[in-house]
Amino acid sequence: MTVGVLALQGDFREHAAVLAALGAEVELVRRPEELARVSGLVIPGGESSVMDKLSRAFGLAEPLRDAVHAGLPVYGTCAGLIMLADTVLDGIAGQQSIGGLDISVRRNAFGSQAESFETELDVPVLGAPPVHAVFIRAPVVEVVGPRATALARLADGRCVAVQQGNLLGTSFHPEITGEHRFHEHFLRMVSDAKFRGAAS
Ligand code: GLN
Repeated sequence: MTVGVLALQGDFREHAAVLAALGAEVELVRRPEELARVSGLVIPGGESSVMDKLSRAFGLAEPLRDAVHAGLPVYGTCAGLIMLADTVLDGIAGQQSIGGLDISVRRNAFGSQAESFETELDVPVLGAPPVHAVFIRAPVVEVVGPRATALARLADGRCVAVQQGNLLGTSFHPEITGEHRFHEHFLRMVSDAKFRGAAS
């Protein structure tokens, strides 16, 4: 099973290391030909406005949109979650997203880098123990539309993890804390999607 990591910008190496540790073949994706070879894709954390510009400059934005609509499993963390959101609040002028997730996310919802924080988060779909979640200039999911499901909320009720069919997103960064359960969950989504593809 070959899983891609969008490698235009951000912490793609950390994601690649987790996926490889879980036994996946990893392909770094910078070009449409590389995207065409993968059965799933991780969009890393970084800076969504830069990722947006680079994905358009590299001719990847449209192929990414097509892949999402065709049902490619995609997991976005932080900036990656912003890239997957149908609506981005507080984006820079002209910022676009790939979209697919029926959510509105607010960029930098917790303030600047200095306001980054860590917390324990209950994620029922992953079971116990709670996830140690690191938020770095993180977005928050302000509106969870009817097609998306909240997977985790902060104590104040704000949504920070969502799933919608083949799309998964977290405001925080499991790839930097040794937390592998989100990536395991994602790899199950990838193999389920492959199985369904093989059956049809
Ligand atoms: N604030 C960044 C953005 O808007 C996301 C930060 C991150 O990915 N850690 O893209």
